Amino acid sequence: MVREKRDHLLDGKISASENIHILQERIRELDRNINSFLHVNEKAVEDAKEVDLKIREGNAGKLAGLAIAVKANINVRGLPASCASKTLANYISTYDADAVRMIRENDGVVIGIANCDEFACGSSGESSAFGATNNPAAPGMIPGGSSSGSAASVAAGMCDIALGSDTGGSIRNPASHCGIVGIKPSYGRVSRFGLIDLSMSLDQIGPLSRDVHGSALLLEAISGKTGNDPATTENEVESYSDFKKPRGLRIGMSSDFERMCTDKRIHDKISAFAQSFSRKTGSELKEIELKYVDLSVQAYYPIVYTEFFSGTRKFDGRKYGRKIEESCGEEVLRRILGGMEISKSEYHGAYYRKALAAKQLISKDFENAFRNTDIIMLPTTPILPHKIGTKITDPRTMYAYDAFTIPANLSGICAGVINIGRIEGIPVGLQVMAPAFNEKLLFDVLRECEVIMHGD
Ligand code: GLN
Repeated sequence: MVREKRDHLLDGKISASENIHILQERIRELDRNINSFLHVNEKAVEDAKEVDLKIREGNAGKLAGLAIAVKANINVRGLPASCASKTLANYISTYDADAVRMIRENDGVVIGIANCDEFACGSSGESSAFGATNNPAAPGMIPGGSSSGSAASVAAGMCDIALGSDTGGSIRNPASHCGIVGIKPSYGRVSRFGLIDLSMSLDQIGPLSRDVHGSALLLEAISGKTGNDPATTENEVESYSDFKKPRGLRIGMSSDFERMCTDKRIHDKISAFAQSFSRKTGSELKEIELKYVDLSVQAYYPIVYTEFFSGTRKFDGRKYGRKIEESCGEEVLRRILGGMEISKSEYHGAYYRKALAAKQLISKDFENAFRNTDIIMLPTTPILPHKIGTKITDPRTMYAYDAFTIPANLSGICAGVINIGRIEGIPVGLQVMAPAFNEKLLFDVLRECEVIMHGD
């Protein structure tokens, strides 16, 4: 776990370079069967040696010597940023994304580039041009997506923490399926500079880790205003890893989520856990009304198609890689063609505007809900993950995985996932939502869930 590892690194029980070396050995041994890394950073041990000097001098940052895997749609200078696509297969990054720069400033070491769904379009990890990723927590099942490699590498103990991106659930969904922690920060919490966008009004970069501590540390390091992303805000970045015990909370639960949860066993498990959480923390469970939440998936896709179409116009084969329409996979092409259609001038933006109106209504729903509740508890996905390679002919079946995660992106709030057990041997994650920029409360609640599950 990251908490112990960090202590051992700081008190010299293990050096940063040993840590990286051991994990790289593990990658070589295990990743043939998991396929979570597209690229291993050959310079990582060298980078770690510099961190070791700083640790010895006593001035190392908060991620000192921890190994960080970075999703393939985030730029790391000198390493490939292929977005798991043939379009950018040979593209090497020329600069660090803000989040990566901040990781380096805090002495984290980039261990490698993680596999994902092509251009982050997907919920299963199967649409990568470089092969699907296996789920280390439930072999043979999808690990979830699109941050499939980030989640799988964490779950298999091949890195300490991973960076993913979440536009509609891509951090939380694989965190749930792989039995780990994953956080979608509030929109504007983390700079998107250097993230190759899927949908720029919804994307956020966030952490995945085996314990709450790891995600808290990483998010502390990468949060805050930067000059490179105008969406980042001045909101205070508190010390998320300095956990306080939450007491007497009002916990929102919605019967809409119960209705939308296809696999009732998932809903039952979440509600049983919420009840035990409320007993142990002296909290109260309250029914909340979310009138428009069932429109989330329908509102999300026109926004994503339109913004993705626009964002991919730069991949015309002249400056970066190959022409996207000639080199991408089926799901990416579907979104480009769909986005092109609904952006046509004769529609005068009608579909995009209608989707934005629904987004507004869903945001209002959450604003109202958070007037009477502190947090919301709900499932992460309405079904368990499928077997890798299962034929899914209707894209809407895949899109439905995100029915519970998309609302947080549409409303800009923060949300996190933590494992609360298994069904048929497959991990199930509880999703906790908190108001925008209240990551502190989110982490305190997730930490308490961890204590309930595993003790202090
Ligand atoms: N599965 C969703 C999609 O395909 C979410 C993707 C994401 O969050 N990057 O768009």
